[in-house]
Amino acid sequence: MAISIRKAKRINELPSYLFAEIDRRKRAALARGVDLIDLGVGDPDIPTSPKIVEKLMEGASKPVNHRYPNSAGLLEFRQAVADWYKRRFGVKLDPVKEVLSLIGSKEGIANMAVAFVDPGDLVLVPNPCYPVYHIGTSFCGGRNYFLPLTKENDFLPDLNAIPVELARQAKMLWINYPNNPTGAVAEKDFFAGVVEFAHRHNIIVCHDAAYTEMGFDGYRPMSFLEVDGAKEVGMEFHSLSKTFNMTGWRIGMAVGNHELVGALAQVKSNVDSGIFQAVQEAAIEALRLGDEIVEPSRKIFQERRDILVSGLRSAGIECEKPRATFYVWVSVPKGLTSAQFATRLLDEAGVVTTPGNGFGEAGEGYVRFTVCVDKKRLEEVTDRIRQVRF
Ligand SMILES: *Cc1c(COP(=O)(O)O)cnc(C)c1O
Repeated sequence: MAISIRKAKRINELPSYLFAEIDRRKRAALARGVDLIDLGVGDPDIPTSPKIVEKLMEGASKPVNHRYPNSAGLLEFRQAVADWYKRRFGVKLDPVKEVLSLIGSKEGIANMAVAFVDPGDLVLVPNPCYPVYHIGTSFCGGRNYFLPLTKENDFLPDLNAIPVELARQAKMLWINYPNNPTGAVAEKDFFAGVVEFAHRHNIIVCHDAAYTEMGFDGYRPMSFLEVDGAKEVGMEFHSLSKTFNMTGWRIGMAVGNHELVGALAQVKSNVDSGIFQAVQEAAIEALRLGDEIVEPSRKIFQERRDILVSGLRSAGIECEKPRATFYVWVSVPKGLTSAQFATRLLDEAGVVTTPGNGFGEAGEGYVRFTVCVDKKRLEEVTDRIRQVRF
């Protein structure tokens, strides 16, 4: 007989899996032989460039790469990150003290809480959001205070609406632009306000910049670190995943304030041993090639965005046309909840989406579509949706 197994409270207290019902229906539809189109996952369907794959293969055959890597990352990788930040954003970084490799930015985001959140500490988190921000806090016994992102506020948190006593207590603030799941973007005045707020209340700012390279119609989103004083209060998380169609490779970076980067490095040196150096060598090549690789996928995602947005609008469904990211944040037709709309899209159109409330209560009233399938399939999506009466 097995011993009695009791999971840690932090596991038992995880929010219930809101997508479980959608998952069940998805499996049932697949079993019935339905030709499902999955616009649920934010994972580029475009393969990694052969030029990058080539570097991995070269790197994999070198014995020097078969040993433990350095947990902070190859100096050459950190230098490549610094060069890219300089070229792309005009931001100067010291590759030794201000750049750290991550096993995908998700890893670094989760470990930030280990580095900075003590039990009871307060963290400011947008809602809706990428769930890792608040789960990191919860795992460390911290408290989350949620900042609603609404259409009225252009999906930017209203820092003035935070009660002063809570702002004083807050240890850390998460922001993410271009934003997942809303597709919203932020401009310099917003970031400048964040820096001022952080100085005033002594708050660490973490900007998740995973989508800065996915801007459309010539729009180039900025780095938080471009703003004066940003490096005094915070850091930025970035990733090769979305930029270079490399989600499976697991490589990203944390950059910015050297004390913050240093503390995260301290955590990481105790729990991981870095990234396979051949992957780092491939990532150096990706950063070096930059726009040569990124521009063709921008074009593809932009064309897909246009097909989906105009198709949905012609079906009478309201949505934001994102200036960046591969997400389209769609308003739920009157009389339905997010979950009901997503369920009907699945059952009646064979289209998988993510109910907005899965990213937080403030996402209720929306459903997130991704454009990670080809344009033929997106045309099929809008044809099918036009035939359903909502
Ligand atoms: C995809 C995503 C990440 C994580 O990307 P990694 O593959 O772990 O680098 C982080 N933040 C947001 C908002 C994302 O959408």
